[in-house]
Amino acid sequence: MDYAETDKLQVHTVHAEVYGDGADEDLIASVGKYGVIEPLAVMSNHQVISGARRLDAAKLNGLKRVPVHYLDPEKPDEMAVHFNCQRVKTNGQKEREYQVLRRARSTAPSPESGKNFSPSAKPKRLRRTTAAKKAGISQPTADKAAKVREVVAALKDEGKQQESEKLSDILDKNVSAAYRQVAGTQDANRQPVPEDLKGIFEARVKLRSAASAIATAKRIMRDLEGHPGLALIDQPAILHSLDELHVAITARCPHAVCVKCKGKGCAHCGKRGWTVREQETKT
Ligand SMILES: [Zn+2]
Repeated sequence: MDYAETDKLQVHTVHAEVYGDGADEDLIASVGKYGVIEPLAVMSNHQVISGARRLDAAKLNGLKRVPVHYLDPEKPDEMAVHFNCQRVKTNGQKEREYQVLRRARSTAPSPESGKNFSPSAKPKRLRRTTAAKKAGISQPTADKAAKVREVVAALKDEGKQQESEKLSDILDKNVSAAYRQVAGTQDANRQPVPEDLKGIFEARVKLRSAASAIATAKRIMRDLEGHPGLALIDQPAILHSLDELHVAITARCPHAVCVKCKGKGCAHCGKRGWTVREQETKT
């Protein structure tokens, strides 16, 4: 069996994205008493794809080394999710697993990948229902959870931390309850979206998930702080660009139906019928 130094190991980003949790007290106590018994699954670049919580417990117990298995799967994202299949998951975690599984097959083979490459190859996606089944959630529930998570992120963006956390808690307990709440407040607080503007507001959902992916990328870059590999990378410049991108998308996203013309188009909204966040904060 191999051993690795706990200091050198890093948790694979998909873990932070999907599960985002550390060791619980039982695990910390157990590792304190018996050490880490089950080896961690680690890639040759020191990223842990299974055993993030064990690593956390080991560090908290001051262990310098842990047993590891080295492996380099072709699709580490998918592998990380598969390793975590048996854990007891929250609804939010299941929904994020669903998103990772959906994304995992969405890249076409590249020339470097060799044998299956064809320039005309279309990205193959896992069917929505299959991805949902693997994540242990029904597809309609996963879609509802995704919409709730969208609102959780929006509340956080608007600085409503408490409301955001509260909604996230409800989501973890009961997806339908959280969804009802979200659907309810959206109807109460907003102008109904006129038929001809529906498309643009649907696109907004996609843009928001792009913005949240950029937020994740920012977190990943920040987590790399002090990593030896960064010697070759201009981390501050990348962070700066990601920031600009994030602002550009969130600020220019269609935000609300124009309150002055209710969607008909006027000078305030530049004849669009909807306003962007940037415009709202100015006026
Ligand atoms: Zn207007």
